[in-house]
Amino acid sequence: MALLPSWQDKTFGGKKLGGKIRAALWLESEVGEGNIFTKAQLRQAFPDDAQIDRRVRDLRDHGWRIDTSRDDLALKQEEQRYVTKGAEVWIPGQAKTAKHKNSLTDAQRRKVWQDDNFLCRTCGVGVGESYDDGGIELSKLNIARREVLMPDGSTEFQYVTECKRCGTRAGEHKADLAELLGTIETLAPLERKALAAWMEADRRTLGPLEKLWGVYRTLPADSRAAVKQAVTDEDS
Ligand SMILES: [Zn+2]
Repeated sequence: MALLPSWQDKTFGGKKLGGKIRAALWLESEVGEGNIFTKAQLRQAFPDDAQIDRRVRDLRDHGWRIDTSRDDLALKQEEQRYVTKGAEVWIPGQAKTAKHKNSLTDAQRRKVWQDDNFLCRTCGVGVGESYDDGGIELSKLNIARREVLMPDGSTEFQYVTECKRCGTRAGEHKADLAELLGTIETLAPLERKALAAWMEADRRTLGPLEKLWGVYRTLPADSRAAVKQAVTDEDS
């Protein structure tokens, strides 16, 4: 492993280390991936940097995933979780590589949106729609780069439609195509058929099982018992 500069150093190799880089180093060496830290700990480590919260947030632009209590219900309000490391911003040049958002042409952006049916692929909101939370905010669609682990083990970056709200919230998603294809292999024929129908409709439609369940759950107890008996008998 290459030697990391220390988060306590203010310079490295003759260069000044900025707050964002030192915050990244602190997360790496003091917190560690998967672990929780608090704002108080962060401020204690960087008493001179009044903007240190913001420096940590800025790391998200470089692929660092840092969840707050809004992203992860297990966290208390003052806690954050350092989920995964992003670009190694302490390496000269790395700090600039993350912002690819505007490198697409208008035609390319339209193509991505079209292929995604103009839906945010994270929350499902359509273009210019309101969210289900009763607020007045209307969605604005953006494009995100998604890291996809391919079946052959290589990594590819693919573009996906994402609304502005999900883009600021979600941190970096990774897709594991190999694992997904493996899970699909294990599906029973009925499950596979249901999934294929949802994919065709690009939304989750009611299949025979959901319809049966919908009727079953409204039945009186004796009738429920009769249906349950029939299902169980079929089983043995
Ligand atoms: Zn969304």
